[in-house]
Amino acid sequence: MKISVLDIAFNQHNAINHIHPTLLEIHGQYFLTDTGYEDTLPQLQTALNQHGIDLTSLHGIIISHDDIDHLGALYNIKKVNPLLQVYCSKTEEPSVTGKTEAERLVQAKQLLQKLPEEQQAWGKNFVALQESIQRIPAVDHVVQDNDLILGGIRVIETPGHTRGHISLYIEASKTLIANDALVVEPGGALNIANPEFTLDLQAAIGSVQKIHALNIQTLICFHGGIITDHIQQKLDQLIHQYKI
Ligand SMILES: [Zn+2]
Repeated sequence: MKISVLDIAFNQHNAINHIHPTLLEIHGQYFLTDTGYEDTLPQLQTALNQHGIDLTSLHGIIISHDDIDHLGALYNIKKVNPLLQVYCSKTEEPSVTGKTEAERLVQAKQLLQKLPEEQQAWGKNFVALQESIQRIPAVDHVVQDNDLILGGIRVIETPGHTRGHISLYIEASKTLIANDALVVEPGGALNIANPEFTLDLQAAIGSVQKIHALNIQTLICFHGGIITDHIQQKLDQLIHQYKI
């Protein structure tokens, strides 16, 4: 299995931001973890081209969780590649397919009710952004904790950021694709993704402890990219930081 961490750069709030879907080549088939935003689809296409492939070459996409930066482009990718196999957790499948409201949308609507007048415009925009996500009608592969998929990827349920968030552990190379269970901060330390938007902080810490129990040599975070140094130590620090 060949693992390539993509670097998708884009402008956000007048700064350059980066997100990192992972491209997996498994027996000549290509799989992607998460899609980026609808608006970053051109950058994703460029990144795939750099690997000699395009959107139609993708065999499947594993969606880690229902957030705009992780599945925002899924609908458009599926449109150009109708045979694309989509994977996500059993918990997130109803919202990924639009059968139920996404947790983030519910959260955004609740937040809007509590926001003071001067932040109402921001809150309405946040709700509208969640509502703008186009949904695919069906998921092909619904996965659960400990499932072994694609001949060597262990599904690790890591709830907290959302209820059905999953990380992926590639046993052969001791690589964890943590998605948003962890982020790498600019200085290299690990943190929880957006603690203020974490739907269940206690569960998120529990997920970090679950990750800590794995033997990880390479850690890939959607926000922050790849780290290989002092992973256990950084996880220790993070658990310690959130201990009440
Ligand atoms: Zn994210």
